[in-house]
Amino acid sequence: MRKEVKRMLKKASIIDNHVHLSVHSKSRAKIEELEKSMSGNGIDAAIALAAYFPRKTGSITNEQILSLTKNYNNIVVFGSLDAENNLQEGVADLEKLLTKDRIVGIKLYPGYQFVYPNDKKLDEVYELAERFKVPVMFHSGLAYKSPGGIRFSRPIYFDDVADKFPELKIIISHLGDPDIRQATAVAHKNSNVYLDFSGLVSNTTKNQQRSEKWKRKNEEYIIETIANVMIDLMGTEKIIFGTDWPISSHESYLLLVDSLEERLDLNGKEKRQILSGNILKALGVKK
Ligand SMILES: [Zn+2]
Repeated sequence: MRKEVKRMLKKASIIDNHVHLSVHSKSRAKIEELEKSMSGNGIDAAIALAAYFPRKTGSITNEQILSLTKNYNNIVVFGSLDAENNLQEGVADLEKLLTKDRIVGIKLYPGYQFVYPNDKKLDEVYELAERFKVPVMFHSGLAYKSPGGIRFSRPIYFDDVADKFPELKIIISHLGDPDIRQATAVAHKNSNVYLDFSGLVSNTTKNQQRSEKWKRKNEEYIIETIANVMIDLMGTEKIIFGTDWPISSHESYLLLVDSLEERLDLNGKEKRQILSGNILKALGVKK
């Protein structure tokens, strides 16, 4: 990791470990909007994720996302690849980007690429991440809309990866939803596994059309769910703050953290672990 990036991350109090950007002019996921939302909500840094979706829309290549973010010092990038159709080229590309310190992690989407996380063919991606000491983040659980294969991103498969690559830091996004207890067990068992709670309170148009009553009930349920994960793990060392912006807003997620703080009597240290400390650990940045 570049020195200036490390310095920037060390100083950040709130890091959003999970944001998306788009190259499409009609998309909400614009870099200017992201920057506005971050500065308006006190989000000091963010991780933007490349995405290769051979079966659906919404892809953004490594070069595209690096080009969008190049003038934003507080937005760093996780590279990705098309593991389904273009594994070799993808690994070579990631290696080049890692060598040049242009990315700080790798994001994989098993449910959208129809590949199981413990498939041997992905070993070289994990070996690469281990060699460069960068984390691998997985989209887990729900795959929105068809074609999406929920079975590929069940948290249980991350256990095999964590076992086989003990030096590799793994981030399971979205708490493995709907298999949240399974994701919690994988994080509990493996010291190298973290969980992010991004994308659970979503403000997609479909959800926005719901009545206030159901939105409130849903939010209460989500807060209870995340709180139960921390109670189950008896601590905050494994939990990472991430939003899935623009699918979830920074406002709603900061409110969520406030609710968790109240619900669990989180102290300053515990809150810092969630908001920045744990992702820094996963990134190998010492505070
Ligand atoms: Zn996401």
